[in-house]
Amino acid sequence: MYQAAKKRGRSDRVRKGLAPKPNGRSADFIMAGFATGCQLACGYCYVARHRAFGNPLETYSNLDAILAATKRHWQRLPTKEPNQVDPKYWVYDIGENTDCLTPAVRPLTLRTLDYFFAETQAKPTFATKVAGGALLPELTGPERGMARVRASLMPAALARVVEAGTSPVPARIAAVNEWVARGYEVHLNFSPVVATPTWEADYAALFGQIDRTLTAEAKAQVKAEVIFLTHHPRAHELNLSWNPEAEAVLWDPARQEGKTTHRGDGDVVRYRAFGVKNRLVETFRRLLADHLRYCPIRYIF
Ligand code: SF4
Repeated sequence: MYQAAKKRGRSDRVRKGLAPKPNGRSADFIMAGFATGCQLACGYCYVARHRAFGNPLETYSNLDAILAATKRHWQRLPTKEPNQVDPKYWVYDIGENTDCLTPAVRPLTLRTLDYFFAETQAKPTFATKVAGGALLPELTGPERGMARVRASLMPAALARVVEAGTSPVPARIAAVNEWVARGYEVHLNFSPVVATPTWEADYAALFGQIDRTLTAEAKAQVKAEVIFLTHHPRAHELNLSWNPEAEAVLWDPARQEGKTTHRGDGDVVRYRAFGVKNRLVETFRRLLADHLRYCPIRYIF
């Protein structure tokens, strides 16, 4: 019965662990998720690695309790000291294990944003690969600037291969302007960066496209977060059966090495720390500085 519910994309499960987790990169803390799994199907998805039968969407039925636990957590925090996450506010990621703007999840996202605006001065954030300015309501009061969307971007041709279910990249870039105009802070999430043979030219082209599209208002507030690809042997094996074209670029054993992560992913593979990754990071920094000099990097690894 449980598996049947998962296949329908819903479940009536009550989420048990409600306490936010520390983060320190995209956010200060990660709120207990109101959903796990995703209607998209990215070949590199870290959520899918933990799930034996794909990555179906489950939503939890106790969002009110999750939000109340988040508020209690925020109320116990000291005054925020500036850090790379945010200079002024404690920031909570509300969508770690799903895409908050996919159709089945969006109503929960909007409820969560409303709760933050009414009940806390903490700032909610989420990354998305779904475009559409109208997916988020205009913020007209003191809540303007009090939510951060992280638009996830990669070169369009690569996106068509490794994240085919997502919105087209040009639409995602255009959505940055729309959300900024509606009162959201919008950062750019370059994740994952996949170092294909043409990646330098592809990212230079992407950055040029971003520069030509963003409004002055969007450029004035934009920052970047950058995460190079992490992959997983089990996901690789699974993906070979349905998307071998993606695995041809995601699986690169000559330049990747195994690593055990602190988040319990088991033995993932990443670009080799010495001789590969450090050069990739420096190249990315240079390309971004050349093309988007107004866009500081919040973190890169
Ligand atoms: S959007 Fe995120 S959660 Fe959804 S499939 Fe892609 S990587 Fe996974």
